[in-house]
Amino acid sequence: MPNKIHKQKPARTCAKTYSDYKSFKQYLVKDFNNRCGYCDSHDKFFGGFKNFQIDHFKPHSIAVFASLKHDYSNLVYSCQSCNRAKSNKWEDSHGFIDPCAEKYDEFISRDSNGRIKHNNTLHGEYIYSNLNLFLRRHELLWSIERLEEQREQINKLLDEKVYNDESVESKLLKKFRAVQNEITKYSNSLYIEIST
Ligand SMILES: [Zn+2]
Repeated sequence: MPNKIHKQKPARTCAKTYSDYKSFKQYLVKDFNNRCGYCDSHDKFFGGFKNFQIDHFKPHSIAVFASLKHDYSNLVYSCQSCNRAKSNKWEDSHGFIDPCAEKYDEFISRDSNGRIKHNNTLHGEYIYSNLNLFLRRHELLWSIERLEEQREQINKLLDEKVYNDESVESKLLKKFRAVQNEITKYSNSLYIEIST
């Protein structure tokens, strides 16, 4: 059973209307849980809110979609990589699927190492290849987040001192250092991956 791509499924809840789609960004960041709708990268790894972008799911440069330029239901909180890769590509059949739709999860998922997968269908392959979901950064980001969660759990145990034995503390400190070293290793790989 593959893992879901989204740590938390995005859902558009904003009912406001604005004349400029950029005004929606403050709502998008919440509705998308600070994550790219397509690849689930957290914005904290890319300079946060100000560096994340607003993707128009149906490109407004295509005449039939021009009216959707400022329509919240057509906006996706997106990382630079996905937004740039998606650009104004559009395919009527077997093309992109809105990441807020349950259907997105049928085509795009993750394996147990955090690698993004498609399900060998035309839709799945189209989304995967046109958004560059094969990039190693997706696996690295997933691993870093998992390690950060582990580090937080160990830190909590050390803070709470829920043990009486000093050898437990020393084991936890050893584990903490090992996790920290892994985070550094993955972070360095990520840095190389995104700067080349
Ligand atoms: Zn992305």
